[in-house]
Amino acid sequence: MGDVPDEPQAYAAGPVAALRRIAFLLERAREDTYKVKAYRGAAAVILPLPDDEVARMVEDGTLTDLPGVGTSSGRVIAEAVRGETPRRLAELEAAYAGPLVADEHGAHDLHAALRGDCHSHSDWSDGGSPIEEMAITAMELGRDYLVLTDHSPRLKVARGLSAERLARQLDVIDAVNDHLGGAFTLLKGIEVDILDDGSLDQTTEMLDRLDVRVASVHSKLRMDRDAMTRRMVAATRDRHVNVLGHCTGRLVTGGRGTRPPSQFDARAVFESCAEHDVAVEINSRPERRDPPTELLELARDVGCVFSIDSDAHAPGQLDFLWYGAERAAAAGIEPDRIVNTWPKEHLLRWAAK
Ligand SMILES: [Zn+2]
Ligand SMILES: [Zn+2]
Repeated sequence: MGDVPDEPQAYAAGPVAALRRIAFLLERAREDTYKVKAYRGAAAVILPLPDDEVARMVEDGTLTDLPGVGTSSGRVIAEAVRGETPRRLAELEAAYAGPLVADEHGAHDLHAALRGDCHSHSDWSDGGSPIEEMAITAMELGRDYLVLTDHSPRLKVARGLSAERLARQLDVIDAVNDHLGGAFTLLKGIEVDILDDGSLDQTTEMLDRLDVRVASVHSKLRMDRDAMTRRMVAATRDRHVNVLGHCTGRLVTGGRGTRPPSQFDARAVFESCAEHDVAVEINSRPERRDPPTELLELARDVGCVFSIDSDAHAPGQLDFLWYGAERAAAAGIEPDRIVNTWPKEHLLRWAAK
C-alpha cells in the first residue's frame, strides 16, 4: 500500500472522471455495490450539468441538494472542481491500484498479452452499468475489444433478452461503435443458456447475427452425470457455440454462498470442445474460479483452446482478467492457445467457424 501525500495534488480530469475512477477501484477490489453505486450515481447526476453550475453549487455548498449526491461524493466533486486530487481517490489509488495478482509463472506477461474479453454483462440483463460505461472502461483498460454477452430469455431472474430485445441491443452496439471511432470495438455476443437437452436458448437467426457466443449451464446444475454429459456435449456440437462458459457452475466463495461443481464426464466434454473448436472458458470471477485446477489441466492435456473471461457485471470487474491470467499461467497454458490473445480479426474468423 502506498502513501497518500498530505498536501493535495493537482487534478485536472474533473469530478466525473474522479467519481468514475473511485467506483472502478472499489469494484475491482470487490467492495460492497451500494458504496460503488453512490459514486456512479453521483457521476450520472452531474454529467449533464454545465461546469459553471457545478462550480457554483460547490461555492454555495448546495451540491448535496442534488438527489444522488451525498456527503462523500459531494466532497469528491468539490475537491475535483477546485483542481485538487480528491482525498478518497488518492487513498484508493494508493491502496487498490496496480496488478491484482503476483508476478509468478509469467502471469503478468500473459495478462499483458490479453487483447480483449469475451464475456461481459450490462444493465440490459443482470449487470449494473449501461453498455457504454462497460465499453469505455474496457477501452480505458487498453483492450482492443469487448464482447457484450447479456443473458438469454429463459434466465428470467437475470432479465434475459428476448430475440426482439437482443435485436434492439445490436442497434445500440452499432451506435456505440460509431461514437468510439474504430480503435476499440464492442462486439456482439450472448451468454446463451444451454437447455436441458443441450439446445440453445435463442433463435438461430439471432445467433447467426452475433460475433461471439458463450454457452453456459445455469439451470438443473445437479442433473445426473450422464444426462449432464450429454447436455454439454450436445451444446459443444452446435455450430454457434464458441466458448463453453463456467463449465462446472461451482461457487467457491462470496455473497451467493458456495455450490459444488456439476457432475459430468469432463474428458468427453473437453474432447468434444477440442473437436468442434469450442474454447473452454477460464472464468476469472473470484467466486467461480471455474474450471477447477484439475479440470483446467485436463482440458489443457486434451488439446483445448481457452478464453480467459471476466464475466464482468460492473465496469471495475473487467479487471478480473488478472485472476484468470494467473490461473492459466500457473497451468502452463501457452498464450497462443488463449483466444483473447489473438488479434480481433483472427478471433472473429475463428468465431465465425
Ligand atoms: Zn453465467
Ligand atoms: Zn455471465
